[in-house]
Amino acid sequence: MKILSIETSCDETAVAIVENGRKILTNRIYSQIDIHQKYGGVVPEIASRNHIVKLPYIIDEALAESQLTLADIDAIGVTNGPGLVGALLIGLSTAKAMAYSLGKPLIGVHHIEGHIAANFLQYPDLEPPFLTLVVSGGHSHLVLVEDFQTFKVLGRTIDDAAGEAFDKISRVLGLGYPGGPAIDLAAQNGNPAAIAFPRVMLDKNKFDFSFSGLKSAVLNYINGKKMKNEAIDPNDVAASFQMAVVEVLVRKTIACAEKIKIKTLCMAGGVSCNSLLRKMMTVAAEEAGITLCYPDPILCTDNAAMIGSMAYYNYINGGESDLSLNGIPGMKIGYRQ
Ligand code: ATP
Ligand code: MG
Ligand code: FE
Repeated sequence: MKILSIETSCDETAVAIVENGRKILTNRIYSQIDIHQKYGGVVPEIASRNHIVKLPYIIDEALAESQLTLADIDAIGVTNGPGLVGALLIGLSTAKAMAYSLGKPLIGVHHIEGHIAANFLQYPDLEPPFLTLVVSGGHSHLVLVEDFQTFKVLGRTIDDAAGEAFDKISRVLGLGYPGGPAIDLAAQNGNPAAIAFPRVMLDKNKFDFSFSGLKSAVLNYINGKKMKNEAIDPNDVAASFQMAVVEVLVRKTIACAEKIKIKTLCMAGGVSCNSLLRKMMTVAAEEAGITLCYPDPILCTDNAAMIGSMAYYNYINGGESDLSLNGIPGMKIGYRQ
């Protein structure tokens, strides 16, 4: 079954064609980063307008690259939440129009379930149950994937998402947007032990995260130095901040996996590209006898192939949507319309 999928929840205009949830036939991504960079973050209205302009071309590109025609497509998958509502509606309206005019099934997909499903593309034999650390621009979640349709949130951030913290600290250090890759790079020339930023572990027996205290500590450090007219080393700040985030993510995740006695751990979302997170989670998982999976970087940040994978599992489990499918900005994991 070949599913053409569309992802427009934020500032990537993405279209993919995926076979049986596992095989990528094409994965086209147009990133609007250049457009939003000068504002230091995504401007929702500008994102929506660019989706309108670009989406038809990206669909044509995807079909051309895979040498398929619309007649070869068996269903249309689309992200319908969470995300920017205006941006979601562009992909959703396009998907509905295609499904209706072609007489093919329409399948709504939860964006974060899609991020998790990126692991199915990377590891063709991977099957639930497994635990996933989802760390993205808007989410820091520990999700137990019991089967292809049952997602249990075991922990979540009580304030900022990990990616959000990376983006904010990058901005104050003047390293640019998006912050994650910029901090990752700067940290390679910095000392992670230079500054003792807090590791906020919250309740030991719970698996929630908190990053706003760390963010304030970094801001206070930078402002304190500025007031005393002392220079800061952005590389040291980046490295010390990154180490504080990654240590918490690794310790909480492994503790959670051990508590629920699960032996397979996946990572998902843009922050799972982070080189220190990958390195430290690999070591910790190995010590704990846990198999660790994470997708290639291109499948960690926003893309439509992950949506195509999840759409397949929704569809074969009775998850076909009708044309009343709506965009839900705050859609909860596991929600089915
Ligand atoms: P969500 O999926 O929660 O709706 P989103 O779609 O904006 O949010 P993603 O595309 O999954 O998020 O990831 C983008 C985030 O990943 C940004 O915050 C970015 O800074 C972060 N990121 C990307 N690469 C890295 C990296 N190497 N290290 C740390 N963070 C990174
Ligand atoms: Mg983006
Ligand atoms: Fe995302």
